[in-house]
Amino acid sequence: MTEFVCIACPIGCMLTVELKGEGEVSVTGNRCPKGAVYGRDEMISPTRVVTAVVRTDSQAFPYIPVRTDKPLPRALITDLIGDLTRLLVRLPAKRGSVLIEDYRGSGVNVMLTRTLPPEGVSRE
Ligand code: SF4
Repeated sequence: MTEFVCIACPIGCMLTVELKGEGEVSVTGNRCPKGAVYGRDEMISPTRVVTAVVRTDSQAFPYIPVRTDKPLPRALITDLIGDLTRLLVRLPAKRGSVLIEDYRGSGVNVMLTRTLPPEGVSRE
């Protein structure tokens, strides 16, 4: 049995989650069905949306923010953060562009979340 806070909404119900065997999971403490889904997923295959910044080739805008387009399995998060520290984005860059497609076969893409101009052009 494990207890953790549901982060599916700001209320933050304290969930009690128990593996019953054969993939069956009992969730209590949730005020709504979303909490049951969150509790089950967190117990069986925890995932997180990852946000980070990546270096650019610009002195004016040295970093650009990125995020995954879907939650990534938690086991891959440390690897992704490490891979992002080794990347360099060449400006100009457009918000919504895919920086990494299908990260390690997870089906999760890493997207740029900001538009930045080329070096020497100021932002509006
Ligand atoms: S169980 Fe429902 S009400 Fe409670 S924190 Fe999760 S989403 Fe919000």
